[in-house]
Amino acid sequence: MFSKILIANRGEIACRVIKTARKMGILTVAVYSDADRDALHVSMADEAVHIGASPSRESYLHIPKVIEAALQTGAEAIHPGYGFLSENAAFCRACEDNKLTFIGPPIAAIEAMGSKSAAKTIMGKANVPLVPGYHGTDQNTEILKQHADAMGYPVLLKAAAGGGGKGMRQVWSAEAFDDALIAAKRESINAFNDDIMLIEKYLIAPRHVEIQVFCDNHDNAVYLAERDCSIQRRHQKVIEEAPAPGVSASLRQKMGETAIKAAQAIDYRGAGTVEFLLDSDGSFYFMEMNTRLQVEHPVTEMITGQDLVEWQLRVAANELLPLTQSDIKIDGHAFEARIYAEDPANDFLPVTGILSHLQIPLENRHVRVDSGVRQGNEVSVYYDPMIAKLIVWDEDRDKALGRLCKALSEYRISGMTTNIEFLYNLSSSAPFAAAELDTGFIEKHHDKIFHSREKDVKQQLPIAALWLVLQQQQTAEYNSAHSVDTSSPWHLTSSWRINEAHNQHFSIDLQDQVFDVQIEKISNNRYQKSATGPNNSHYRICYGETVVEASGYIIGDQLHSEVKGYRSQASVSEHDGMYTLFTLACAVQFTVIKPDLGDTTIGADANALVAPMNGTIIELLVKPGDVVEQGQALIVMEAMKMEHTIRAPIKGSVSEFYYQPGDLVDGGVDLLAFEGEQL
Ligand code: ADP
Repeated sequence: MFSKILIANRGEIACRVIKTARKMGILTVAVYSDADRDALHVSMADEAVHIGASPSRESYLHIPKVIEAALQTGAEAIHPGYGFLSENAAFCRACEDNKLTFIGPPIAAIEAMGSKSAAKTIMGKANVPLVPGYHGTDQNTEILKQHADAMGYPVLLKAAAGGGGKGMRQVWSAEAFDDALIAAKRESINAFNDDIMLIEKYLIAPRHVEIQVFCDNHDNAVYLAERDCSIQRRHQKVIEEAPAPGVSASLRQKMGETAIKAAQAIDYRGAGTVEFLLDSDGSFYFMEMNTRLQVEHPVTEMITGQDLVEWQLRVAANELLPLTQSDIKIDGHAFEARIYAEDPANDFLPVTGILSHLQIPLENRHVRVDSGVRQGNEVSVYYDPMIAKLIVWDEDRDKALGRLCKALSEYRISGMTTNIEFLYNLSSSAPFAAAELDTGFIEKHHDKIFHSREKDVKQQLPIAALWLVLQQQQTAEYNSAHSVDTSSPWHLTSSWRINEAHNQHFSIDLQDQVFDVQIEKISNNRYQKSATGPNNSHYRICYGETVVEASGYIIGDQLHSEVKGYRSQASVSEHDGMYTLFTLACAVQFTVIKPDLGDTTIGADANALVAPMNGTIIELLVKPGDVVEQGQALIVMEAMKMEHTIRAPIKGSVSEFYYQPGDLVDGGVDLLAFEGEQL
C-alpha cells in the first residue's frame, strides 16, 4: 500500500479521499489555488502545495504543476477525484512518465471512453445494447439528417466529446433538425473545441440507471448494484438513490453482467460507472461509461457497507478486490441530494457568496454529509457551486425518504440562495414518494415541486404569521429578562398590552404574493388548559376575507402550532431576512416587508455595483455625471448566458465606468465608481 498520496482535486471529494486515506494510515498531500487558501481540504491534509491562480486551468487543470507537487512532496500516487483531470488521458500519461501511480483506469480505457461515438462502436462490438442511433464518422449535414429521418423523431443530438449535458439538443421534427444541429455544434465547439455529433433516438421518459463496477489487475470484476439518477435538471443529476426502485434481482443481475461486459471490453481497472437508459418495458441501453469515481458513489457505499475510495486505493496498489460478487449484499435504501448554491426559481442559475452561516444536520448512521466547506468560506465563480452532498440511509425507501426530508429541513445556510427548499419540495412530493421516476420528473411535476398554487400558499400563510408573532414575543421576553430593569415597558417590543386585545400587522411576501396580515391576540383565559404546550399563545389571524384561529409556541427553531384544529410541527430557517418554512406539506419562503423609513445608505447594498460573476459587459446605460434615481439601470452584463442589470443603490451619479462594452470582467470586481447624493 502507498504511504503517501496526492489528491489532485478540491472541495468535498478531496476531503472524502483524505478521510479514507487517513483511516488506512496513508499520508495525504492537498493542492490548492489562490481561491482555496482557507479551504477545508487544505487544512485536512497532512501537507498542502499551492499550485497557482484561482482559474482551474492555472491550477487544478495544470498538469505540470500537479505533477511537480507530487514529486516535490514524495507522493507515490495521485487520486484525481472527479471532474478536473480525472478523465484526462494526458494527465494519466504524465503520471506514468513520472513513475507516479494514477489511482484510476489505464490510459487506453480513458481514451476508449473519451468519445461517446467511439465508445458506442466498442460497446456495439461487445454486444452491449445501444440506444438506436448513428455514431459514424461521416459528419456531412445531409447524411446526419438522413439518419435522423430514418430513425424517426424525436431524436437527440449529442456532442461526441460531450459531458455535463452540453452540446445536447432534442429535435422533435425534420423541420427543426438543421437549426438544432447548428446550435448543438456551436455549443460543443465552445465547450469541447470539437463538433462531432452523434444522433440517438430520443426516448420519452426513460430512467437513468447506472451500474457501479470495479475491476482489479487480477482478472476480477464485480458490480455493486445500481443507482437511479433520473431526477435531473438540464440533464444534470439532482437526487440519486440506490437501489433503483422497482429493479428486480434478475434485472439487476442482467444489467450488472452487461456492465461488466462493457468494462471488460476496454480492459478496465478500478472504479467505473456504466450508465444506461432504462425504458418502461425493462429494456436498457448503454449510454456511456464514466472512467472515475462518481459524485453519487456514497449511495452505493451506504447500501453495500463498503468504502469505494478504499477499494480504489487497494486496486491501484495491485491488491485483489475486497469482495467477490456473491459477497456483495444490498442492505436498505439510500438517497443523495446535491446541495447547490443556485437559484431554482431562476432556471437554476448558479450563485456565489460567502457562507456566512452554515449548520449541517446531525450526522449519525442514518445521515452523512460530504462537504468541503466551512462557515466563512466563499462559493466563488471559479468552481462548481456544489456546497455539499447530503446522504441518508434507512432500512427501506419510505423511511430513508423521511430521513432525507428531515435532514434537509435541518440544513441551515446563509449568505446565498441555495436549492435546499427545492430539494425538500421535490423529496416531499407525492410522485417522488411513489417513486414515479423518469428523467422528465422535474418538468412534469413542476407545480407540485414549486408549490406556487393558491392552495399551497394559503395553507402556509397562517403558520408563517404565527411564527413571526411568536418570535417577536420571544425576542421581547428575552430582552426583558436580560435587562437591568426587567419591568421596563420599553422592552415590550412585541407591542402587546396587558389585558388588552391588540392588533399586530405584517406585510408578508410569500411565494411572490404580498399579504396584509392582521394578528389579534386572544385572551389566554379562553384556553385555561392548553393542549399544545406550556406557554401556548392564541391568536386570530386575518388576511383578505379569511379569518383563522391559531395557537402555538416555539422551541429552538421548531414551531408547534395548531391552526383551525390541525396540529403540526414546522421548522423555520432564516437567512439574510429570508425565512424558509418547512412543514410536512412543503417548504415555502417568505419575507416581511419592512416599512420604508427613508433610511437608504450606499453601504446597505455595497454588492450592487460589482460583477455578480465572470462575464462580458454588454452596454452602459448612463453617462458619467448623469444624475440617476435609486434603482435605475446603469450597466448590463452577460454571464452564464444570462443578462444581468446593475442598478443604482441610491440616488446619485456614476463618476466613472471601469469597463466598456465587450470587456471581460471577473466576478466580484467593481464595475463603476458611484457617488450617492448627499442627504
Ligand atoms: P452527459 O455526458 O453530457 O451528461 P449523457 O449522455 O450522460 O450526457 O446524458 C445525460 C442525460 O440526458 C441522461 O441521464 C438522460 O437523462 C438524458 N439522455 C441521454 N440520452 C438520451 C436519449 N437517447 N433519450 C432520452 N434521454 C437521454
